[in-house]
Amino acid sequence: VVLGIGDDVAVLRYGDRDYLLATCDSQVEDIHFRRDRILPAQLGRRIAAINLSDIAAMGGVPRWALVSLAVPEDLEVSYLEELYVGLGKELQDWGAAVVGGNLSRHERQVVIDLSLLGTVPREHLVCRDGAGEGDLIVVTGSLGDSRAGLALLSEPRARVSRESAGQVIERHLTPRARVREGQLLGQSGRVHAMVDVSDGCWGDLMHICRRSGVGAELWLDTLPVSAACREVATAVGADPGRWALGGGEDYELLFTVAANRCSDVVGLLAAECGTSCTVIGRVTGLDTGVQILTGKGGRRLELPASMGWDHFLTGASAGT
Ligand SMILES: [Mg+2]
Repeated sequence: VVLGIGDDVAVLRYGDRDYLLATCDSQVEDIHFRRDRILPAQLGRRIAAINLSDIAAMGGVPRWALVSLAVPEDLEVSYLEELYVGLGKELQDWGAAVVGGNLSRHERQVVIDLSLLGTVPREHLVCRDGAGEGDLIVVTGSLGDSRAGLALLSEPRARVSRESAGQVIERHLTPRARVREGQLLGQSGRVHAMVDVSDGCWGDLMHICRRSGVGAELWLDTLPVSAACREVATAVGADPGRWALGGGEDYELLFTVAANRCSDVVGLLAAECGTSCTVIGRVTGLDTGVQILTGKGGRRLELPASMGWDHFLTGASAGT
């Protein structure tokens, strides 16, 4: 065991050249999703993406998946068939496949658990523990869309454009893992620490800080928030900055890189994937956790206890 509990995946010794990566994640009906708000094919894609994202966060290549399902006796066979189609399709896009699993009965709920194995060339592995003082903190894509999608599913009568509604609901129900970006970042040899944004960028950055023994500043006014997310937030009377900070389930990649290498890395993802990146903060040398500033060089925000990141975690799940 190279790395056990504490990173996005377990890292295991295997062969001379590569490491084996292992992760699992589950989706439980009424906790993570509501059956009337997500199609079975979408649920299959979602559970795949959540696991793929953890492999992506190590710079890895997803390979083999095992699926364990528990379902009520009266569930239509077509539900399972469609779930497997979605699951298989999402994995196939990255060259991975379901190679086995198990099916059992559950009293009332659909419970799906996926284990995903991947590999990574040893020299391309990126963990959470390498962040250094002065590193810039960078995130791919945009933050908060998934939380906006959840808000719309809960308040379907909110007045927003069809395009914006479609964009944020899709981000919530069927997120796409940044697998290619993760691999490029690993291959670049420039990235010091990386995590995927599942809890929210604040909470996930905290994981990097704890593992690396450093502190960080997060610059609130730099967080990349889409126009669709802002539109939904306005419609439901929410703060899009809070969604970006702690909404979670964005499945973007958050990484740290030396300041003088940052533009190379950002340019690489733009050129190879067309993926935009945003610098959202800086690693400080002090082990003081993550401080939220209004912006770069800005004032420190004292957030009330009710805005702690645990608060954001509750309720931030697909369709619940
Ligand atoms: Mg993760």
